[in-house]
Amino acid sequence: MEKHNTYHLALQQLERVAKKLKLDPNIHEKLKHPKTILIVSVPIIMDSGKLKVFTGYRVQHNIDRGPSKGGIRYHPDVTLDHVKALAMWMTWKCAVMGLPYGGAKGGVTCDPKKLSQKEVEKLTRRFTTEITPFIGPRKDIPAPDVYTNPQTMAWMMDTFSMHSAHAVPGVVTGKPLVIGGSFGRNEATAQGCVFAIGEIMKYRGNELRGATIAIQGYGNAGAIAHKLAQQEGARVIAVSDSKGGIFNPEGLDYRQVWEHKCQDSTVKNFPGGEPISNRKLLELECDVLIPAALENQITEKNAERIRAKVIAEAANGPTSHEATRILFKRKVVVIPDIVANAGGVVVSCFEWAQNLMGYFWTEEEINSRLRDIMVFACRKMWEMAREDKIDLRLAAYMLAVGRVAEAARIRGLYP
Ligand code: NAD
Repeated sequence: MEKHNTYHLALQQLERVAKKLKLDPNIHEKLKHPKTILIVSVPIIMDSGKLKVFTGYRVQHNIDRGPSKGGIRYHPDVTLDHVKALAMWMTWKCAVMGLPYGGAKGGVTCDPKKLSQKEVEKLTRRFTTEITPFIGPRKDIPAPDVYTNPQTMAWMMDTFSMHSAHAVPGVVTGKPLVIGGSFGRNEATAQGCVFAIGEIMKYRGNELRGATIAIQGYGNAGAIAHKLAQQEGARVIAVSDSKGGIFNPEGLDYRQVWEHKCQDSTVKNFPGGEPISNRKLLELECDVLIPAALENQITEKNAERIRAKVIAEAANGPTSHEATRILFKRKVVVIPDIVANAGGVVVSCFEWAQNLMGYFWTEEEINSRLRDIMVFACRKMWEMAREDKIDLRLAAYMLAVGRVAEAARIRGLYP
């Protein structure tokens, strides 16, 4: 049900923001529609010797502010409507962060857990071939998303380069370092999230040092957020993954929890903490809650019981529309996903810029530039929210849609 509605949700969101911005109806009409939709057949010979045809998509929502940018997802739930919604959200995310990009998204409907590594490589190379005329460092730049990774990007980069008869590292981001990836890309999402939390806490008159934090989800975003928040002097009191959670009011040490997770494939049963359910973790008394797992974790059912002062959405869409309204009324500050988890696309932008220059930045340079961009976006969002007495999510969307609309207006309509 949800997957059929995602695009309508994205359109409704745009509608609300357009009303609030008093957007020119002609520009609103343009922004409702993706610029390009590409649907391709991806035939491959399976290990069994049988041919199977998968369906792949690439949707470019908008290019008014620059070439389009967005991930490639391999998942059974990939549908055209879902990809259209995700592409539109990428436009807003890039715009709110001030990146010189429009938004795009792509995917192949498949279950990668049922494919061999060889089959995934064939699928990737054929899919890349089918979308080759539409992508490129100056056109549209894919990146990893759900069930795609640096290896997938290496195959995409190689396939595109073979067709071009020269190496084109800037065609995708999220590549391994050895073929033009960037330092800091792996930590970027969590690092951006921790910078955003520090900044928003500062505006509220608090600081990250000494703050108590609960984290739901212990993957790339959640576990690295634990490590970086601890480095900043925060006390992480609870973490969880799909199997369960752990709680210790004195703080959980990142290195010890990570070692346990690597050994047991879960944080559950970590000896230095008591067990806690995912539901209870969300309702813990703490300064900052970081949902870093799934969509729709905070809804009208539990929003009244959330006791965190700040929620930083490392995950995409963890808070429902209704819950956002309740939390705003209760003065809980929600740092919206399009800002809180934008560190990944910001460092992707750095990777692309380095590829175009053919010159590389150090990890310190990457983190200092990432901090500048996160701080600037947070400040603009905070100021707009204060001025208009609105929640940070609406402020972020108004900034984003306003910037894209202004770019569309000033470029004019061709021909
Ligand atoms: P991941 O697969 O590395 O980790 C996901 C974690 O969530 C795992 O620890 C898993 O056990 C846990 N989890 C799954 N179901 C759970 C449940 N019911 N309760 C508690 N934990 C559960 O994924 P990730 O890359 O860390 O992404 C997490 C979220 O962050 C997603 O919403 C993703 O879209 C978003 N995000 C990630 C990035 C990035 O660069 N990794 C960038 C932007 C947004």
